[in-house]
Amino acid sequence: MTKRALSWTLAFWALWLAGCGGVGEHVLTPWRVEAGQGGRTWQGVFAQPAELRVTAWVTGEVFTGPAILIDAKNPRTPAADKREQWVPSVAYLVEHPSQGRFLMDAGVAPAQTGPCAYGIRPFYWVPCRTAPGRDVVARLHGRGLAARDLRFVMLSHFHGDHVGGLQSLLLDGLETVLTTPEEWSAVTSWKSPLEGYLDAQVRGSYAVAVLDRARAVDMPYVGRVWDLFGDGSVWLIPIAGHSRGQLAALLNTSQGPLLFTFDASHLRSNLEHRVIPGATVDETQAMDAIDRLRALRAAYPALRVFYGHEPTQWAQAGAEVVLAQPGSGGITPEGSGVFARRAAE
Ligand SMILES: [Zn+2]
Repeated sequence: MTKRALSWTLAFWALWLAGCGGVGEHVLTPWRVEAGQGGRTWQGVFAQPAELRVTAWVTGEVFTGPAILIDAKNPRTPAADKREQWVPSVAYLVEHPSQGRFLMDAGVAPAQTGPCAYGIRPFYWVPCRTAPGRDVVARLHGRGLAARDLRFVMLSHFHGDHVGGLQSLLLDGLETVLTTPEEWSAVTSWKSPLEGYLDAQVRGSYAVAVLDRARAVDMPYVGRVWDLFGDGSVWLIPIAGHSRGQLAALLNTSQGPLLFTFDASHLRSNLEHRVIPGATVDETQAMDAIDRLRALRAAYPALRVFYGHEPTQWAQAGAEVVLAQPGSGGITPEGSGVFARRAAE
């Protein structure tokens, strides 16, 4: 073995040892999606919204650039996006009138546990900033809640800026994480450090509720999706490409439907200009995810879209923003009234 080959071999094992070591004991249970009704239209779904309360918490910011966010080689990528910048890491509390509360993503790690930066030096390192009170557990406590009051945390995927708060949630009584079989298999694979997963962030004893492809239903524009509670309120959309089993979400609130792209479209520009992220595990899947979300948005221009890390959507550091709440708004068909506004834009 040459010296160069030897150093690469040592580097590989150092990376693997730093990232791997087991992620704990887990009970895998299929998520019991109610038998969804196929053959529905989004128009029909949106005409019967749910009284959801949706709160966004900007838990911190990470410093990154086109290598992760948007493919700088694509001529459609705006010059302004080809730079390193601080981008927000957002978690969402969803409160359903009969199905309970859950989080979408866990944000970055709390300030109290030390710096929220993460990575495996010298291979990659993601600078991160936050402050006491911004993490998901502090936000829950601020509402008089604890993680044990959550039915689950849906993780869009298991990268550090989305699972940073998981360990503190587990300490606070969280029991269940909801994900796809493909994402969980990537997280528990021996290759996981090479795909940006960190054992220290995802280890622990918790139940893993996995979405079952057989219980997904076909919906226009986006293909196979999960109607999570079987009542048309919460839809999960597989958007693999940036990671192997990533999810987007559509919340059918009484103030209009909200689409959360998570990291299928880190920035508004990914969707607007049809450009995949800079970091992908599968470029074809990543473009397919962009195309399906673009098709949905084109069919329903009033859909309020929240991107994975779009800085201009969360101008105020540490912001808490109520995106939807029961009681006001109500059912409005697309093309008129509150449905037509683009509050998130
Ligand atoms: Zn991210």
